Amino acid sequence: MIAFIWLFQSIYFSTVYETVKTKEVETIGTTISTIYRTNPNYQDTLVELSIQKDVGVIIFTLDVDNAPQIIFNSTRENSPQSVDETIDCLLFYMSGSTSSSYINTEIKGLKMFNCASMEDVNGTSTYFCVSAPIVPINNTTQNFRYLLIFISIGVFCATLIGSYCLSSQLSLPIIRMANKAKQLTKTNMDVKFTSNEYAEVKQLSDTLNYAIGELQKTDSIRKEVIANVSHELKTPLTMIKSYTELIRDISGDNPEKRREHLDVIYTEAERLDYLINDMMDYSKLESGVMTYNKTCFNLADVLKTFKNKFSEKYANFKITLTTPKTVIIYADQKRIEQVITNLLNNAINYSSTRKEIHIRLKKLDENPSKFKLEVVDHGIGISPENLEKIFDRHFRSTSAKRATVGSGIGLSIVKSILTYHGYEFGAKSEENKGSTFYIIFNSVSQEATNEKQN
Ligand code: ADP
Repeated sequence: MIAFIWLFQSIYFSTVYETVKTKEVETIGTTISTIYRTNPNYQDTLVELSIQKDVGVIIFTLDVDNAPQIIFNSTRENSPQSVDETIDCLLFYMSGSTSSSYINTEIKGLKMFNCASMEDVNGTSTYFCVSAPIVPINNTTQNFRYLLIFISIGVFCATLIGSYCLSSQLSLPIIRMANKAKQLTKTNMDVKFTSNEYAEVKQLSDTLNYAIGELQKTDSIRKEVIANVSHELKTPLTMIKSYTELIRDISGDNPEKRREHLDVIYTEAERLDYLINDMMDYSKLESGVMTYNKTCFNLADVLKTFKNKFSEKYANFKITLTTPKTVIIYADQKRIEQVITNLLNNAINYSSTRKEIHIRLKKLDENPSKFKLEVVDHGIGISPENLEKIFDRHFRSTSAKRATVGSGIGLSIVKSILTYHGYEFGAKSEENKGSTFYIIFNSVSQEATNEKQN
């Protein structure tokens, strides 16, 4: 602002002053003839106007000898330009013209701006002139400049002090928060940000508090996972080690015993494989690099394959499947297979004496484009309070721990895959009676399928 004012006063001030002054004289020039003609008291009005606007007004006519006859004159006595000079000059420049003429003259170093016109009043050519000195405003600008220097210094100091106070006021709570944030370490997450100074800082402290809350949750989950997983990994490894020693030292020559022990080793190795796969998927989920490749495929065929595979592997289970012949869905087949594997594994792992598993896929009555898949077991079931948590990461009911292979990650991977696809899912269960896990798939019509594959 100050720079702008400096620029204005040093470059444009004189120009603006001159423009305003000449405009003013022009305006007066056009009004004096009207005042003269219409106002019988024109002399008083014109004198008043001359004093107010600091201009000189001359009204004159010419006699037969072309000598000026002054009717009215309000030029100042000490004006550098005498009345005769003004009239001569005007007559010279106007040279008989009736239209308004504007003439700049310079007398004794003083610029004058004159405006004159000639009109016929009662048959006499009457001249109306206004002249005003364009006073050099160097003195005024000089004074103004001094004032401006004081104003500039004042504004500069005020701005410095003001911005110092304001910035310290603004930065103080941020500095306080930064110091608190330094206290945040892996071992100390017990830091609370408080700030009521102003809205933005308050918002920042709320966000940081929220972030700390999330970090604390992740930290406790991390600890739980490490504890869970290392325990789960250690058990099969210990078993493999012990059974290998058994074969080496005791059962090596006994084919029957050796086969029995090798079976245990195989089962434990499978358990390890299952855990490691789960952990790899989990780490992909955590780092957000899980990729999906959607295609159209027949879900019914996938279910048939799984039914056969699981029936073969778990011959002691009665596994049934009811499904329409064709249910085309648009999804990542590998991930959907992963979901089904997980549900079937859980149905087997948490079974009881009644070893029956039913896989059902049927059209929803209320929406024929949707199909509901149910995996029903008659196993140990899930208590109502645990049912709410099973899809959360790392949840394992206490009854599930140790008894079965698992890391408590499987259902959270299922949740993530199904959420990505936008499929509705859930579980119903009754303790000691069994559980039903369901997923509602959106099917696509055959034509849409062809289009999508093209
Ligand atoms: P896990 O590797 O422990 O099986 P999941 O995420 O697959 O992990 O399952 C989480 C928990 O949900 C299990 O530990 C178990 O307590 C419970 N659960 C899952 N499926 C069933 C089921 N069919 N019957 C009973 N409980 C189940």
